[in-house]
Amino acid sequence: MLLDHNNTKIQITCQQYECTNYELNETKKEIWLDFHSRQTTENVRCMYCGADNVEIHDNSTTILKDMPVFYGFRQFVRVRRHKYKCRFCRKVFSEEICFKETNTRVTTRAANFIRAFLSMGMPASTISECTGIHWETVRNIHTQIMDETLQTRFRKLKEDGYRPEYLAVDEFAIHKGQTYATSVMDLDSGEVLWVGRGRSTEDFKKFFQEYDMDLLKEVKAVAMDMNTAFRNLFEKYIPQAEIVLDRFHVQSLYSTRVLNAVRVAEAKQYLRYGRCFKKFWKDETTKSLRSELKQQFTEEHEKYIAIRDSRWAVLTNSKNLSATQKTALETILEDHKDLAVCYAMREEMTRLFELRDPEKATKGWKKWFKAAAKSRIKPLVNFAKAHCEKIDYLVSHASHPISTAKLEGLNNKIKVAKRIGYGFRNDNYFFTLVRYLSLPHKYMLIPQKT
Ligand SMILES: [Zn+2]
Repeated sequence: MLLDHNNTKIQITCQQYECTNYELNETKKEIWLDFHSRQTTENVRCMYCGADNVEIHDNSTTILKDMPVFYGFRQFVRVRRHKYKCRFCRKVFSEEICFKETNTRVTTRAANFIRAFLSMGMPASTISECTGIHWETVRNIHTQIMDETLQTRFRKLKEDGYRPEYLAVDEFAIHKGQTYATSVMDLDSGEVLWVGRGRSTEDFKKFFQEYDMDLLKEVKAVAMDMNTAFRNLFEKYIPQAEIVLDRFHVQSLYSTRVLNAVRVAEAKQYLRYGRCFKKFWKDETTKSLRSELKQQFTEEHEKYIAIRDSRWAVLTNSKNLSATQKTALETILEDHKDLAVCYAMREEMTRLFELRDPEKATKGWKKWFKAAAKSRIKPLVNFAKAHCEKIDYLVSHASHPISTAKLEGLNNKIKVAKRIGYGFRNDNYFFTLVRYLSLPHKYMLIPQKT
């Protein structure tokens, strides 16, 4: 049927429904299929009391979106169905439509097409465009599929006695960095257990209220950044879990707050000196003095350029530098004592994070903080002050060398979620997507509903 849209006659029946009218509207670019119920009351039982004594009370019309058959024509199904009234309990109910997808206004076959498109990774917006079905409906169908899959997965995990041992918690930016979301990952399986809006204590408390805490009885350690809210809540709700400060967060904080701060301060110093010499040389009238001042200006400026351009070399692990870069770095460190101290402290920090003996790590970190506090280099002293009371969370890395890096690997999936998810019009949809995308592959297949 429907090979050509001119001169088409149809005759379809689907259970008690019959369709004889097919209407094509060229101006509106719409196709309508009219179904009407031919059900007689003998075969109907009351959906409330089960009595088989009902009468037709009224008729009603329901419009469903269908899969388009012709490109560019949206297709609709108009269903005239009965409303029955029970002669026994007097309640009124509508006749069921066997080809309607539950909780939507689309036909089951349209829903199946949407499922198939989604399983191929097509964005909701594209599906909406080519089917003429509103993206919200597409999104609802998608959410339904994902929820079902996630629930099935969770039931399976529970049955199998799921007890994760290592978790990671971290925040990520949504809505162009204006707001944040927090996610919790099982580091062994890579599955995201929970995603929620915000990153404050109030926001993150929801994880402990919503997730099945029974399953988290055997958590040994949790990796996280310096966020106090995360730490306090884990200590309160899962006290047996050790807190492990993520080494990459600590190292990157040290690089910006200490190493780079010192480097920039020294560079500015040269710039100031240089400006002084420049001013003097411009004002100076004696020729010999003039050229001497000019020479000094040039020297200061060269030093400034050298340290200004050393950012990468200073912040990069020495292992990753070429021989020339290393020599250049060494010259800079020789000329700048403070920078050299901070640089050595970072190398020591890297070494401490590689220790696997908690006792040695404790000793090492204590020594490190003591040396930092005594250094008289302001950014270094401040860093030590701010973090010395977190020594236990740094030492715990020796027993549990875990990190939030795996959770950050989720960022790519978040990008996919953003693409499929058609922006962030709905947080829950997006959060479900993130969790869904972290599932093992076999769970991500989207089954066709039959
Ligand atoms: Zn009844």
